[in-house]
Amino acid sequence: VGVAGLPIDVQVIAGRLNIKIVEESIDGPGYLLALGRLGTEIIVRSDDAIERKRFTIAHELGHWVLGVTCESRTGMFQQPAAVRREKIERWCDVFAASLLMPRHAVMEYFCGVDDSFLVVHLLHAPTHFKVSEEAMFLRVNEILAIRVAYLHPDSLLIERISHAFVPEAAANDIKKVLSLPRIQELLRLDVFASYVELAGTRFLCAWQRKVRPRRVVFILRPAPA
Ligand SMILES: [Zn+2]
Repeated sequence: VGVAGLPIDVQVIAGRLNIKIVEESIDGPGYLLALGRLGTEIIVRSDDAIERKRFTIAHELGHWVLGVTCESRTGMFQQPAAVRREKIERWCDVFAASLLMPRHAVMEYFCGVDDSFLVVHLLHAPTHFKVSEEAMFLRVNEILAIRVAYLHPDSLLIERISHAFVPEAAANDIKKVLSLPRIQELLRLDVFASYVELAGTRFLCAWQRKVRPRRVVFILRPAPA
């Protein structure tokens, strides 16, 4: 549809596909309403933050793509009948993340960023792509294998992770690094970036203390080979 430049304008994409965006006070984040000749609408929850609305629109565009794909094969605009609902929803989430945060754009954004500047740069990424921190951090993990976690700012426990934006196995790496005595001693620092070794793999370990909201943003990035 000829939309380029960041942040990706999902409103313009929908417009060019003749899909109307309607904001309503609804329970869920949104849904796709295909009315045949009467047109297609994406209903979005009006109370949501703009980043959430954009993700919802992108997700529903995924349902639209599935719908027209089925239509071209069966003549009926519908979601793939033989595929489980959860799988379709997951596919649409992946579609939305790929649309809002194109792989090449994410790689370009992080290309050549100095180690000491990486966390700050990461924290600016949601604004650059106009997505939520959660969507951004999951995508960054998927594309660049950067593991991001929020830590409780004041906890003296080893169990400091308040939320990790990574698959379970990668969360264990974060726990292991946090339990290293050298890292424990340094965790009171507001800003940190240094390399650590874990089971033969070198990682950049870095963090940044944020005041609002109060938390520590912690990252592990595999060192370039
Ligand atoms: Zn859906």
